[in-house]
Amino acid sequence: MRRRVFLSLAPALAAQPSRTAVRGILQREPKYALKTPDGNLVALQGESDALAVLTDPRVIGLDFEAEGAFAGPVFEIAPMHTSPLYIYKAGQRLLVTYWCDVCAIRTYSPGSCWCCQEDTAFDPRDRKDK
Ligand SMILES: [Zn+2]
Repeated sequence: MRRRVFLSLAPALAAQPSRTAVRGILQREPKYALKTPDGNLVALQGESDALAVLTDPRVIGLDFEAEGAFAGPVFEIAPMHTSPLYIYKAGQRLLVTYWCDVCAIRTYSPGSCWCCQEDTAFDPRDRKDK
């Protein structure tokens, strides 16, 4: 009689680092939440720069991904210096960035350019060509 061997993936998954990602459509209401393809709302929290992206009307409604870790039911976005926020456009995963054309300054949170005070443009980028 042959014995079937069942491999459990659970121990391997448990050994992974805690950083993970959630992907879904970024919601206008409730704020700081995305809706996953299976219809679940995931609440997000993070640094003020991350929260500013989550309420940017240019990002709301997009296919959005945040890297970080679950803290109970809430997803804690990883620190902004680790580039945790992405959108998907035409199948491409693009880092959320903002660009000031006048000063050629790139930032990772929406708002005025710290140099010329003009509004920055939403400019998602392929990370490979930064
Ligand atoms: Zn500027």
